[in-house]
Amino acid sequence: MENKKVAVLGAGVSGLTVARILDNRFNVTVYDKNKTVGGLARTRFTDGYLYDPHGGHIFNSKHKDVVDFIFSILPKENWKYTVRNAKIYFNGKYISYPFELSLCELDDDDALDCIYDFVMARQGNEPDNFKDWLIWNFGEAISKRYMIPYNEKIWAYPLEQMETQFMQGKMPLPTKKEMLRSMLLKDPSERKMPHSTFYYPLKGGIQTMVDAIAEGIEVRCGEKINDIKKNNEGWIINDEEIYDIIISTIPLPELPNIMELPEKINLCIKDLKYNSLTTILFDCPKTDITWLYIPSHNYKSHRVGYQSALTPYASPNKERGCAALEIIGKKFEINDKFFKENNILPKELEFNESLDSEFTKYAYVIHDKNYRKNLCEIKNYFSYDDTFKLLGRWGTWNYKNMDLCMKDAMNLAKEMSENVD
Ligand SMILES: Cc1cc2nc3c(=O)[nH]c(=O)nc-3n(C[C@H](O)[C@H](O)[C@H](O)COP(=O)(O)OP(=O)(O)OC[C@H]3O[C@@H](n4cnc5c(N)ncnc54)[C@H](O)[C@@H]3O)c2cc1C
Repeated sequence: MENKKVAVLGAGVSGLTVARILDNRFNVTVYDKNKTVGGLARTRFTDGYLYDPHGGHIFNSKHKDVVDFIFSILPKENWKYTVRNAKIYFNGKYISYPFELSLCELDDDDALDCIYDFVMARQGNEPDNFKDWLIWNFGEAISKRYMIPYNEKIWAYPLEQMETQFMQGKMPLPTKKEMLRSMLLKDPSERKMPHSTFYYPLKGGIQTMVDAIAEGIEVRCGEKINDIKKNNEGWIINDEEIYDIIISTIPLPELPNIMELPEKINLCIKDLKYNSLTTILFDCPKTDITWLYIPSHNYKSHRVGYQSALTPYASPNKERGCAALEIIGKKFEINDKFFKENNILPKELEFNESLDSEFTKYAYVIHDKNYRKNLCEIKNYFSYDDTFKLLGRWGTWNYKNMDLCMKDAMNLAKEMSENVD
């Protein structure tokens, strides 16, 4: 019997991983509208500077099968292992991350307020909106100085209208005892936090990883999916090819434009919230800081990712570094006027002229109060047809890093292969 034909829509980490694992049991074709594979996990070189235009992408995972999968495709000697050295720019000082375990680095008055409020925190019922939850969890002083302004910048959405569950496992949640120990020992103990150590390809940026996953797979780059229909022969893509099964990693809000869906589902999709991101690449002084968080509303950027701290091959000039700053919001024209009109970063970071920039329409899923209800309706609808599967950060509308996208892709491939047997 001939293998079933599967179309994977999107050649990001999710689409490539599922295609790679399914490839020997199914006849798989991957489509992507972009000219290169990788989706959000991409790299380009501008004047010899390494740039992950959708944000610097590091790899780590607590899932052994995901780690084994990646190192079987791109062996360990091709990666640089790094201990995260993240800082927070606070009142002109560089405070270690996470803030709540680095209170010993604050001025005495700030430290005292933060410690007192943290020790008194976590009383009463846990609030169900993100803003009150931050105050409940960390106390008012830490929240006002760091948690609230930083989260206001990165989400650009009212924190009172966001739920709280999504942060579990993503945000470090130290105990009061751990905080007191860090004060006493003057040790932020960052190693224990999520993502405190990671890997990044030694050469070629994160593109090296996605190119390795894509090896041997049939990928049709530069082919945008504009139309999906179903008849009794199967799924017809762009009025051309017929497939038995579709796996879609296309962002959910794009689906109503390319396939017919019930009005109720269209409305749920329309109500999904997300934000967009601009990154700007700069030449800058060399540093071993991996990320710099900038909570103050005085600056437009919320975070700087130092690409040159991830690999020694990021800058053409060995004496210099390079970094990409991140700004949430609509698409900006990045030109002299933009830099004149906006205070994007503290001057002392000494960022030279900008080298490149990129806009990412779909950056972060926003977990607003309707999130679960909408997603449940959407998933429920698609679950009725076993030949159309949703996958990926935007296909399943979930705050997932690459490793969890790979994990989902591995699980889906396993389930599909078992059904073939
Ligand atoms: C700023 C930022 C930083 C991040 N940093 C990290 C990190 O350090 N480590 C980490 O593990 N994760 C990180 N992530 C998360 C990571 O990017 C995602 O988990 C992962 O890349 C998602 O992969 P995906 O394949 O599900 O989606 P995507 O990468 O979005 O892939 C979807 C693909 O579908 C294609 N597509 C869309 N519409 C169509 C169409 N109509 N026709 C054909 N193709 C289409 C797109 O071109 C895209 O290639 C970060 C995310 C952001 C936004």
